[in-house]
Amino acid sequence: MTSATLISHTTNKIVQMLTLQDEMNTKINSQWREAGYEWHRAIWTECAELMDHYGWKWWKKQTPDVEQIKLEIVDIFHFGLSILLIESNNNEDIALDIATELEQSTNETDFKIAIEKLAHKTLETKSFAIKEFNTLLTLADMSPDELFQQYVGKNVLNFFRQDHGYKDGSYIKVWDGKEDNEQLADVLNKLDANSVDFRNDVYKALEERYPATESTY
Ligand code: MG
Ligand code: MG
Repeated sequence: MTSATLISHTTNKIVQMLTLQDEMNTKINSQWREAGYEWHRAIWTECAELMDHYGWKWWKKQTPDVEQIKLEIVDIFHFGLSILLIESNNNEDIALDIATELEQSTNETDFKIAIEKLAHKTLETKSFAIKEFNTLLTLADMSPDELFQQYVGKNVLNFFRQDHGYKDGSYIKVWDGKEDNEQLADVLNKLDANSVDFRNDVYKALEERYPATESTY
């Protein structure tokens, strides 16, 4: 793919993620844009979680937990998109900015420093530091496509949980001996993330695996 094609491919995926993020935030609070949430705080504390999964303690042997690292990066992206959705009402513009940045390379080689740079910039600007975020993605060897796949998966799982009694405690977390997020990982491996209806494909696949409950009607 040429760089322009790649950027438009990624832009399209980011537009989809912005829509999903807006829907998720709206489900929690329809006035989320005016609520004054401290999104930057969510990002820097996720940076700390990320640091812990990477390992930073010089007094004990630690190995980076790649799966968890990727999940925390996706968490950061949720909050970053939320900030950008408040700052601009043109999703195409936001997506193009991010996609263009994601095509840049980085000179940074130290993952821990990269995390700190993102946390620092976030606290300084209270905005989403896309360049610093891209450095993390690059060093974690995560392509924009993988970010999309993981992001949609997590977003759909959040909706699925809400739709199946997460709030009132009736949600079943273990299906067939596997936790729901492991079931999700299986589902994501089997589906095509380029399908036009990827999100619904994921939801349907989860629905099929979820234990059938007796109807109370
Ligand atoms: Mg965590
Ligand atoms: Mg987290």
